Order: sequence, then structure tokens, then C-alpha cells
Amino acid sequence: MRDPFFANTELIGLIGHPIKHSYSPYIQNYALEEMGIDCIYLAFDVVSENLRSSVNSVLTLGLKGLNVTLPHKEKIIKYLDELSEEASIIGAVNTVVNDHGKLIGYNTDANGVLETLLPFKDKISGTKVTVIGAGGSARAVIYTLLRYFKPEEINIINRTHQRADTLMNYFSLKMRYDSFRTFELFPPDNVETLKNSRLIINSTTIGMFPDVEDTITDIEDSFNEDQIVFDLIYNPTKTKLLRMAEEQGAKVVGGMTMLISQAAKSFQLWTEVEMPVVEITKKLEEYIAKNLT
Ligand code: NAP
Repeated sequence: MRDPFFANTELIGLIGHPIKHSYSPYIQNYALEEMGIDCIYLAFDVVSENLRSSVNSVLTLGLKGLNVTLPHKEKIIKYLDELSEEASIIGAVNTVVNDHGKLIGYNTDANGVLETLLPFKDKISGTKVTVIGAGGSARAVIYTLLRYFKPEEINIINRTHQRADTLMNYFSLKMRYDSFRTFELFPPDNVETLKNSRLIINSTTIGMFPDVEDTITDIEDSFNEDQIVFDLIYNPTKTKLLRMAEEQGAKVVGGMTMLISQAAKSFQLWTEVEMPVVEITKKLEEYIAKNLT
């Protein structure tokens, strides 16, 4: 058990809305205690109207930094002093470091996507990929695909079609890639797109706790055994989408590896210490098994 907190105990915050589903406080506090760092990590439910004042409070209260989750990853950029090269290309921030009064934004989600997909690199490179969603995490997904996996074609499917187009135009310019196609989220046009993709990535909130029976498609033969289906959602650990795809023979992967990998990179940025990833993964799995939500 760690020592009690003292006046010089430091604080790292997590801001988002909603925030109750997050496992980050468990991961980060476990790592801080394990590595003997006198700092705590707390979640704050921040609605969009309070984003600016909550970023200001990092400076006025002297927080060590922040994690940023939906829906603030893009809007927070205008309140920061500097961005890492990666965050600047991606256009979204999930980690802020308070560097002696200067707020620097990073994107460690890209690291999480990379760690998750690396084992499938040979199967993915040069093939068709479908990304569902056009929010903050879809940006990290598309950046990572273009930078490390060189797909033949990227389909972006999103409820708000215009947002998919915005993402397509953004990355066409930023990363000089012109093999995008965009679609609305509704079948039947999607089914062919899904079927023809070697890799399908869900980066929407569809299927996330508590709406665990929701999926991006109810049509089972959207999937086949040549595919890899990656759902960024980590609560539940296996979404209905993944269960459906697995039943059709696809290789499926949930958001847990991404969650731990992005957390490890953020931890390192704040503390300059490496997170004990293997031990934390084991502890988190035990914690989830005990507190199944
Ligand atoms: P975001 O920026 O708010 O984007 C949400 C996306 O979901 C948008 O494309 C939105 O479509 C779509 N969406 C939301 N509700 C929908 C609905 N009812 N029907 C259809 N589409 C809907 O969120 P984000 O930061 O990208 O996060 C997305 C998911 O990724 C969340 O589940 C989050 O937990 C997960 N995530 C996981 C990790 C990890 O480490 N594993 C890291 C980051 C994010 P519109 O554009 O039409 O609104």
C-alpha cells in the first residue's frame, strides 16, 4: 500500500464526457504506485463549455498533465502552446504535458493502433481497409495506416457523411494519399465495402458500454475468414461486432492492447519512466473480470 498523499503529491487529470467507462485511472494509478512516483491520476467529467477553463486550471493548479478523451481531442488543440509532430499531423491530442508552464499536446493513440496492428502487418499492407468513424480516434487510425501500413485503399464510413469527407480531404493533403472513398453508415451499400476489406476498424462508440447490443452492421455475412476486424472499444472487451465477425471466421482484436500501449506512452511522457506493461495488463484483466460491466 502506498504512503498517504502529501502537500507535494502531484496530479495528472483525465478530462472527457462521459468519463465513467474509463479504465485509465486504474492503469495509471497502479503504474504510479508500482514505480514509486508521488503522483495521483484523477478523472474529471468536463463538458465542452468547460474545456477552456479546465485547460487553464492545468496551469493555475500546476497539474503535471492531462489525458484527453472524447469529445475533446480535436477542440483542445487551440488551447495548447505546442504540438508534437505526430499530434500536429493527426489533428487530435490525447495527452498534454505541462512542461514548466508550457502545455504541449501529443497523440499516443497512434502508438496504440500501431502496437495492435503490427502483428498483422504483412496481411494488411497493400490491401483494402475500412475505417468506421470520423472522430478523434479515427484520425490516429488513418495516420497510422498511412504511415506504417501503406494500404491500397482506405474506405471511411461515418454516420455524418460530411465528416468522413472532411477527414478524407484533410489526410489527402497532409499525407499526400489519394485512394480514399467515403460512405454513410447505412447498409446495404456498406456490406460490399466491408466484405471487400482485408482490415475493418471500428473507431465509433457503437457497441460501447452500456449499449453493448449495438453494432455497425447486423448483416452477418459482412465478414469472412480472410479478414482482421479491430474494434477500438475496450469496454466490453469483446464487442458484439467482434463476436459476429469471429463467428464468420475473421481474426478479431479488441481495444485492450491499444488502451495499454497508449497509456504506457503517456505515462512515459509525464514521468520519463517506463510503465510495467505486462504486469499492468494482467492486473487490468483481473480487475475487469471481477468488475464486469
Ligand atoms: P469521437 O471523436 O467522439 O467520435 C465518435 C465517432 O462515433 C464519430 O464518428 C461519430 O459519428 C460516431 N458515433 C457516435 N455515436 C454514434 C451513433 N449512435 N451512431 C453512429 N455513429 C456514432 O470519439 P473517439 O475519441 O474517436 O472515440 C471513439 C471510440 O474509440 C470510443 O468508443 C472510444 O472509447 C474508443 N477509443 C479507444 C481507445 C483505446 O485505447 N482502445 C482509444 C481511443 C478511443 P458522427 O461523426 O456522425 O457523430
